[in-house]
Amino acid sequence: MKRVVIVGGGIAGLATAYYLQTRAQGKVNYTLLESAPVLGGKIVSAREKGFVVEGGPDSFITQKTHALELCRELGLGNDLMGTNDAARQVFVWSRGKLHPMPDGVMLIVPTKIMPFLKSPLISWRGKMRMGLDAFIPAKRDDGDESLAHFVRRRLGDEALDKIAEPMIAGIYVADAEDLSLQSTFPRFLDMENKYGGLLRGVLAQKRAASQTRRANGKGNGQAPVSMFMTLRHGVQQLTEAMIAQCDANALRVNQRVVRVQRASDAYAICLDDGAVLHADAVVFAAPSYVTAELVRDLDSALAAQLAQIRYVSTATVSLGYKRAEVAHPLNGFGFVVPRSEKRKILACSWSSTKFSHRAPEEHVLIRAFIGGAHNEALAEQDEALVIQAAREELRAMMGIDAKPVITQVYRWRKANPQYEVGHQARVASIEQRAAQHNGLYLVGSAYHGVGIPDCIADGARVTQTLLAP
Ligand SMILES: Cc1cc2nc3c(=O)[nH]c(=O)nc-3n(C[C@H](O)[C@H](O)[C@H](O)COP(=O)(O)OP(=O)(O)OC[C@H]3O[C@@H](n4cnc5c(N)ncnc54)[C@H](O)[C@@H]3O)c2cc1C
Repeated sequence: MKRVVIVGGGIAGLATAYYLQTRAQGKVNYTLLESAPVLGGKIVSAREKGFVVEGGPDSFITQKTHALELCRELGLGNDLMGTNDAARQVFVWSRGKLHPMPDGVMLIVPTKIMPFLKSPLISWRGKMRMGLDAFIPAKRDDGDESLAHFVRRRLGDEALDKIAEPMIAGIYVADAEDLSLQSTFPRFLDMENKYGGLLRGVLAQKRAASQTRRANGKGNGQAPVSMFMTLRHGVQQLTEAMIAQCDANALRVNQRVVRVQRASDAYAICLDDGAVLHADAVVFAAPSYVTAELVRDLDSALAAQLAQIRYVSTATVSLGYKRAEVAHPLNGFGFVVPRSEKRKILACSWSSTKFSHRAPEEHVLIRAFIGGAHNEALAEQDEALVIQAAREELRAMMGIDAKPVITQVYRWRKANPQYEVGHQARVASIEQRAAQHNGLYLVGSAYHGVGIPDCIADGARVTQTLLAP
């Protein structure tokens, strides 16, 4: 029977274990080794005093269907919850106050004219510059470029500063000047290539969508799926359900892998307590800089390539308050902060508005994001200082002075891979090199997408390869 060792028990490693458990019909003997005392990696949901606090991800995108399908397969369908879209509004901190992001802005492009024209967030000069997108010819070469370069080229500096950079920083905690457009938002590149610009692309897509709606009459009768979904008791419900389906003896915690070597026709997986496991295949599901160290003896060139993927640190601070003690209406999903504002927080989610069941009756839950590409040191400070920074900012930006009834801080050291310009080519070259080692696989957020669905897709893809005749 084929022996497979999975190194790392985050969502990517767990997905691999789960698919091997449920798809291999006992043909594979798998063992997952996780260095931490618990499984789940960045997925942590703390349930305390009636609050559901997310330490890492609070939801997953549904356009990429792997996470949604897996939740349904695991019988979690009744606990799936979309965002509370009646309150869908994001604010942008600018010049000392929160401004609503104009209705219809799709990450970087306005899709509705009037709300955009009326919004005070962007100056008239900035709006006119954005309009020039309709006349600027498409770039000729198909090389990668940074998101900042792309937005500046098509929509101008102000659109980058007030809209694109803070929205994107909230998702990728990255510097837009370094972030690869090809690896993060290829659909904007497609719009440029296909329609000659973003505004033309948006108009064409709106026309196509309304034609489809007309052709389908009143729709297909199914309730629309929210763009982002979560689970009633937190995202950790997903990893808990996966763990429950796996063979308990196959998932081992407190097992730090320190080295992987070749041993005749197999791999020797060495643990920090001196134990050695042998396997025909190894699935590396740890951060790429960890994998780099683990494969150094096996292939130093592969190690060097893996080590090139940079990671940054972030922290999340969740604060629960009595509703009566927060005067702010919390009338939206939260706000993002342009880098030019030089604040200590990157973004803030009004979690109990964004999702139901996040705070008990008469209470609210707020989550601040600290750190990222420009402010790593802030996220790496002592917990008390991280909390203090978040509370000071909420006082200054939202007028919240009350003492929280719960406070949870999660510091994620070197947790967010940065998809820098050239990322796709870098990953292709890493995978080419890895393919020279029979039975060596790489999964997780470092490679083909940082989102939960991407990591699950990785696990599914590797399982298919492992089970191929
Ligand atoms: C604050 C935050 C918010 C996020 N929000 C969202 C969101 O809303 N939606 C979304 O889709 N994504 C979000 N993400 C991204 C997403 O959570 C991650 O990309 C994903 O969870 C990473 O999964 P992974 O399995 O690749 O890695 P990890 O979760 O990092 O798992 C890797 C595992 O490997 C283990 N490990 C490391 N070294 C060793 C070793 N030597 N031996 C054995 N085990 C080892 C680690 O302990 C860890 O458990 C967020 C991330 C963060 C940090």
